[in-house]
Amino acid sequence: MEVVAATNNKNKLQEIRDILQEMGYKVLSLQQVGLEIDVDETGKTFRENALIKAKEIYKLTSKASIADDSGLEVFALNGEPGVYSARYAGVEGDGKDKANNRKLLENMKNVPKNKRQARFVSAIAFIFPDGKEIVTEGYVNGVIGYEEKGENGFGYDPLFIIDGLDKTMAELTSTEKNKISHRANALEELKKILVHMNIKYE
Ligand code: IMP
Repeated sequence: MEVVAATNNKNKLQEIRDILQEMGYKVLSLQQVGLEIDVDETGKTFRENALIKAKEIYKLTSKASIADDSGLEVFALNGEPGVYSARYAGVEGDGKDKANNRKLLENMKNVPKNKRQARFVSAIAFIFPDGKEIVTEGYVNGVIGYEEKGENGFGYDPLFIIDGLDKTMAELTSTEKNKISHRANALEELKKILVHMNIKYE
């Protein structure tokens, strides 16, 4: 079965490909189906946004589609930046990650060490050719550090110290990250459901 991945992010596309291909799906990029589109994320939750994106691509292609929406939730900030993770500091383009991390550190400056818990969240929406929908979620827990550490990954990775590892997400290689990430966990959940539903992959 062909599945269109509703993302313009190459890292996400590769992660989705790695997991679904081993199950016999052929994952197509937006480019491969001739779509140049950036769907507006107007939902209030990660689940809603993932579904909005997957549904839009399904509507346009009539093929099975898959989308992810993800972000960081910090408990001391009542779940912020949450669905606004990408737009937290209001900066677009190359300087976006640096500006977001600076704003997060500023907002956390009075938060003591034992109150800095956070989690990455990923929601994955999958729509079958007949319109049936599945949404799964994955998490990874950690704490927010006091300075950026590590050169790998993207976004909030350099500030996110993974529980039990004493390393930031940006200090992991992409292979290591893809084993434990929120997206990997959400994709594994999806895989379990697809297997459970006894889907045939021809
Ligand atoms: P979106 O899912 O493409 O809307 O991404 C949301 C934002 O959440 C990204 O721009 C990052 O700021 C943040 N984010 C999502 N996943 C990760 C991750 O794996 N590491 C670091 N930041 C992430």
